[in-house]
Amino acid sequence: MIVDQEKENKEIAKQYKELLRISYQTLSDSDKKMIRLAFDMAVEAHSDQRRKSGEAYIFHPISVAKIVAQQIGLDATSICAALLHDVVEDTRFSLEDIERLLGVTVAKIVHGLTKISSLKKDKNISLQAENFRKMLLTLNDDVRVIIIKIADRLHNMQTMDAMPEYKQVKIASETLYIYAPLAHRIGLYNVKTELEDLSLKYTEPQRYESIKEKIEETKEAQESYIKSFSKFLTQELSKERFKFEIKGRSKSIYSIHRKMLTQNVPFEKIYDKFALRIIYKANRNNEKFLAWKIYSIVTDHFTPNPTRLRDWISAPKSTGYEALHITIMGPSNKWIEIQIRSERMHEIAEKGYAAHYKYKQGNQKDIGIESWLNRLQEVLENNTGNAVDFVEDFKLNLYAKEIFVFTPKGDLKSLPQGSTALDFAFFIHSEIGKKTRGVRVNDKLVPLSKVLKSGDQIEVITSDNIKPSSNWLDFVVTSRARSIIKSSINDEKKAHAEEGKEILRRKLKPLKITLNDKSIQQMLHYFKFENSQDLFYRIGIGTLDNKKLKEFANEYHNTLLNFFKRRVRKSKPQTQNEEDKITEKFDKLVFGKEKEPLAHSFASCCRPIPGDAVFGFITVNEGIKVHHNECPNALSLQSNFAYRVISAKWMDSSTEEYNAVLKLTGIDKKGLVNEVTRLISNNTSVNINKINFDSEDSFFTGLIHVSVPNKNVLNKLVNNLSRVNGIDKIVRE
Ligand code: MN
Repeated sequence: MIVDQEKENKEIAKQYKELLRISYQTLSDSDKKMIRLAFDMAVEAHSDQRRKSGEAYIFHPISVAKIVAQQIGLDATSICAALLHDVVEDTRFSLEDIERLLGVTVAKIVHGLTKISSLKKDKNISLQAENFRKMLLTLNDDVRVIIIKIADRLHNMQTMDAMPEYKQVKIASETLYIYAPLAHRIGLYNVKTELEDLSLKYTEPQRYESIKEKIEETKEAQESYIKSFSKFLTQELSKERFKFEIKGRSKSIYSIHRKMLTQNVPFEKIYDKFALRIIYKANRNNEKFLAWKIYSIVTDHFTPNPTRLRDWISAPKSTGYEALHITIMGPSNKWIEIQIRSERMHEIAEKGYAAHYKYKQGNQKDIGIESWLNRLQEVLENNTGNAVDFVEDFKLNLYAKEIFVFTPKGDLKSLPQGSTALDFAFFIHSEIGKKTRGVRVNDKLVPLSKVLKSGDQIEVITSDNIKPSSNWLDFVVTSRARSIIKSSINDEKKAHAEEGKEILRRKLKPLKITLNDKSIQQMLHYFKFENSQDLFYRIGIGTLDNKKLKEFANEYHNTLLNFFKRRVRKSKPQTQNEEDKITEKFDKLVFGKEKEPLAHSFASCCRPIPGDAVFGFITVNEGIKVHHNECPNALSLQSNFAYRVISAKWMDSSTEEYNAVLKLTGIDKKGLVNEVTRLISNNTSVNINKINFDSEDSFFTGLIHVSVPNKNVLNKLVNNLSRVNGIDKIVRE
C-alpha cells in the first residue's frame, strides 16, 4: 500500500486543530499545552501502526478524543487520556512515561482503560458478564475511565466495516448487551442511541436497512407536518416573548425496531415515530415557571393526554434528566409528544455527566452520578456469585421506570418502579435493610412487601435481632436488595449446614448408616434435595427430624436387602457372563468436578445415550436433566443459566474401586472364620480392608470391609459366601 505521507501529516494536523475547536468545555492555555503533549506522544507512539482499513492508527485515538471532547463534553484531562488510551497496551511507551509527561491523573485513567481492555474476552456469556462486573468495579477509580471506554467503543462501532463479519456480530452484540445500557445509565442518550443503531446494523442488517428505508420514505411527510405545527406554536409562543427553538426529533431505528417487536406491529402502525422539542432560554430562577407557562400555552390549543404527563423538572430522573413531557392531540388527529426543556436541561440531556459537572454549583440536588456510582459499587462488592444474574438485574434496573419517595426528613429518593418498602430500607443502607423489622409508609405500619408509590414517605424500623430471610427474596425487586439478602442468607446457611452435617453423622449411627457419599446420595434421592448442603441445612435447622430419618433408614436397609436378594438369585454362572458383557465402556454418569454419581434423568428434547457428549442442567422441580451437548436448547441454557449447568461425564464403572461392607450372620461353628477369609483371598480382585467377627451364644455376626472393582465381583463374592455352611444371611451395610 502506498501512503502519501505528506497528505497524511496534513490531515493529522488538521484533526488536531479541529479537536481543540470543537471542545465543549472551554480550554485554558495550560489545557491546550497538555493536550498538545498528549497528542505528540500519541502520534509518535502509533507512528508505525495502521488499522485494518489501512488508515494510520493515530486517527482512531484522535476520533475517540473528539467524541470525548465534543459529543460527551469532558475536560482536558479526559481528552489527553482518550488520545493515549491505546498507548500502553500497544506501543513501547509505559504508564510511567505518561505520568512523567502528563501527571498522575491522566496516567491513572489510561491505566484503568488498559485494565479493561486486558480483561479476557470470551464468547461465553457468563464470562462476558463477569468481565462487565469487573469493569464496573473499576468505576471507582475514576468514572472518566468508563466514559472514555464508551467513546472508544462508539468509534470502533463506527469503523467496523473492514472487519470480518463474525467479529462485527460479536462486537455489536456485546455493545448492545453492555455498553448501550451503560451509556444510558450515565445519561449519554445520544451516544446510547448511536450505539444501539450501529449494533442493529451488524446484528440484523436486513431489519436495519428496511426500517431505515421506511424512515427515509416517510421523512418528507413528517417534516412538513412538523413544520406546519411548529409554525403555529412559534406564533403563539412569540406573543409571550419567549426565546426558543423548536426541533423535530425522530425515534431511533433501534427503538422503532424494539417497539415493532414488543407490540408485534408493522412499521406503519408505530405512531410516535417522532417528538417535538421546545428548547427555551431561561435562568435558574424562572426556568420551571416558564416550562409550565409553555405547557399552558400549548394545551390551550391542543388537548393533552393526562395519563402521559411527565414532570421530570420537579423530580429529575436518577440519571439527572430534567424536562417536561406532554402528549397532545396534534393536527390531523395524531398524538404527538412534546418535550419542554430549558437550554440548561437540554444540555444535561445531551451531555449527561459533563453538563452536570458544569452546572453542579449551589443547591443542585444530589441525584447525580457520584451517588449512583456509590450505590453501584456497594452492590458489586456485595454480589456473591452469579454475574449473569447480576447483569440481568442491573439491566432491569437501568430501564425500569422510576418512582420518587421521601425519607422521614423529607429527602427525595428515586427507586425503580415496583420497589417495595424493604427495597427502600436496603436502598438507604445495607445494614438498615438487613435489620428491618417493620416499615411505616405515610405513618401507617405496612408489610415489608408493600409496593411503594411516588410521593410515599417511608420510615424504617430496625431491630438487632432481625436477620434477612429467604422469603424476602420473594418480593424485593432491586438488585441491590437481592444481592445483599442472598449473600447474608448464604453465609448463615453455610454455618447451619456445617453444624447439620455433624448432627446427621451422630443421628445415623444408631440407625446403622454411615455418613458417606453413598448414603448421602440415597438421602438426597429419598428426601428430594438438590445437593448435600440443602440436606445438611435442613438437619441443622431441625426441619428434618428423627422420625423422617428413621423412615429413611428402614427404606435404606430394605432396598439393600432386596437388591442383594435379587442379585444373588441372578448371579448364576451363565447369566454372569452376560452381565460382564453388558458392562460396556460407558455405563455410568458422573457430575461436576467431584465426579459424583448424582440422581438424574434424561432430557426428552434430545434423549442422549451412553457415550454422547452431555451436560447436566439443574431444573427447579425435576432435579438434574441430562442434555446432549448438541441439543438445540443447549446454547440458550448454557448462556442464560450458566450457573445451573453442571458438567457430566460417562464413565466405565468397571475401572472404579468400590468399598463395601458385608455383614454376615449365622450359626457359629469351628473354622468358619478361616473358611471365610480363605474364600475371599482366593479371589484376587477382592481386597480385605478389615474383618471383625463377634459371637454371642452360638450366634455370630461378622463385618467384612472389602474393596472390589465392580458390582459383579461383589455379587460373585456374596454368592460364594452364601454357600458357606453356617452363614444364613449376608447384608451390605
Ligand atoms: Mn481504542
